[in-house]
Amino acid sequence: MPQRISILPEIITNKIAAGEVVERPASVIKELIENSLDADAGDITVEIAAGGRRLIKISDNGHGMSREDALLSLERHATSKIRTDSDLDGILTLGFRGEALPSIASVSRFRLATREPASLEGTEIIVEGGRVKEVRACGMAPGTVITVEQIFFNTPARLKFLRSAETETGHVGDTVARMAISRPDVAFTCISDGRELLRVQRGDLRRRLSQTLGKDAAADLHAVDCSDNGISVTGFISGPNNVRSTTAAMFTYINGRFVRDKVVQHAIMQAYRGVIDRGRYPILALFVTLPPGEVDVNVHPTKHEVRFRRQPVVHDALQKAIEEVLRRSPWLAHPQEQAAPSSPATSQAYRERIAAAAQASLNLPRRETSYYAATSSCDKVVTRAFAASPAPSEAAAVSEPAAPFQPEAADSKKQGFFSSLAIIGQFHAEYILCQSGSELVVIDQHAASERVAYQRLRQQCEATGVESQRLLFPETLELSFTETAVAQRFQEDLARIGFELEPFGGNTIIVAAVPRMAAGNSSIQLVRDILAELAALGTSAAFREKLDELLARIACHSVVRGIPPLDNRQINELLRSMDETDFAASCPHGRPVSHTIKLAELEKIFKRT
Ligand code: ADP
Ligand code: MG
Repeated sequence: MPQRISILPEIITNKIAAGEVVERPASVIKELIENSLDADAGDITVEIAAGGRRLIKISDNGHGMSREDALLSLERHATSKIRTDSDLDGILTLGFRGEALPSIASVSRFRLATREPASLEGTEIIVEGGRVKEVRACGMAPGTVITVEQIFFNTPARLKFLRSAETETGHVGDTVARMAISRPDVAFTCISDGRELLRVQRGDLRRRLSQTLGKDAAADLHAVDCSDNGISVTGFISGPNNVRSTTAAMFTYINGRFVRDKVVQHAIMQAYRGVIDRGRYPILALFVTLPPGEVDVNVHPTKHEVRFRRQPVVHDALQKAIEEVLRRSPWLAHPQEQAAPSSPATSQAYRERIAAAAQASLNLPRRETSYYAATSSCDKVVTRAFAASPAPSEAAAVSEPAAPFQPEAADSKKQGFFSSLAIIGQFHAEYILCQSGSELVVIDQHAASERVAYQRLRQQCEATGVESQRLLFPETLELSFTETAVAQRFQEDLARIGFELEPFGGNTIIVAAVPRMAAGNSSIQLVRDILAELAALGTSAAFREKLDELLARIACHSVVRGIPPLDNRQINELLRSMDETDFAASCPHGRPVSHTIKLAELEKIFKRT
């Protein structure tokens, strides 16, 4: 019998490994940048031609390799990053598998040139389709230059999967940006067909983000810095007005490695739930750092996925770190103050701008008020804001900026952003109009009340349970089978959120008490809604999962629609409670509570700029 099984020659196993690691030019670039970073490079340049199909070239000023190491580096499983089995549990480098170079070299025309700083000359190795063609000495600056030409020239099936040059270039740009964000201390340049896609100098993370994500996106980013349980979370996150419809601007890193991880993503969205709409995603760059033994990066050849040893702990640490920032609603403070909280020059310039803006609003001729008051309702809001602004007290408040503009008081919650507002009045019995320096702040009264109610319910729930009110005449309620089952199964949980429901036989229950806040306002309908919601969840699921939604529903019921216009005292009270409320800027359904119209925007409308 002939032998059926044979061990594959290395040239084939490398090609097979390449199938996993080298999907497209961008994946080659990811691997090579990782190697440059592992070699302590401070400056990395990426050049591509035709989307990387024709040429990929990466140059770094890292520690380079000796001739022997350079030759070894092209062998499969040759690595300088781990030596023993136990090293696998403490990986601090980006690479460790020893697969990238041989894989890439097996599917391209490959050139490696490298020089150690102490060495007088470099080594140049030419490889074609995995076969070493030439090894010679070469003159070069210390560091490493890797050139990959005609990727997939010997694997036509792969070549077919490459997209247009523009698409591949896009992927390359994204990859370089992703890695550039992870290391603001390293300079990156990316050139495509001679055109500069990205050039970033060494700097801090905020600057790097504004260079890679754009100034607009970076203007509303708030620092996260939290350390708990051996897990640290740092970086920047956007406020709820700065969101995207995809997850593309969510940059998450575990121990410096870019990952797309379900646990991480879930924790983020949990933190933002109730602050942004469903289907919207924040802009963020977050770095989770934990002891290397806590995370297994050896899950997937591209290392885009990881496994956590204590998954719930990581999840909660991340969620908590983000919530801590969102709770303070820092985007309500002025971005100028945020960018440089301790820079007197900036705050001085800012005060001057506010003063100038105030002057402009004081000079607004009365005549315009009456003219525009006759136009659309939207214009009315605008003109009323100005008509009210030239009050002496407010003029004084502007030249002597109110608390939110003072750098020593960057925490908007403490000094009460909402109570610091000057009330202009109410619009359509639905919106409260206020002035903050040179800005017009419009508050959705219903959404605001709902947020306040929701937050109180949450606090009560976390403390002793939601306050309930016994009904004078308990009502009976006929339910479906599932609803009855749900009412019984969750009887205790429901009591904790203020509902006392007692079985009455069959599918009938007695409603003895309801949350005090929602008492009176069609509270029976509320019980039905709550039970229907729980029934949709099924009896096996955890009550906790639905808790926030249920509380939001109670909050919604507690706020009467179509209430008569509020007087100033009631408005003041609402504004004060908003300051005491975490996440005050969004209603529990994620809709915004307040909207700010800048003076500049109004000036644009009135063609004053
Ligand atoms: P890994 O990164 O998993 O170790 P690679 O195949 O990517 O495997 O690289 C093999 C080895 O070659 C690395 O361990 C490293 O020692 C060396 N090497 C690769 N690229 C560079 C570089 N740019 N500068 C210095 N050494 C490098
Ligand atoms: Mg590597």
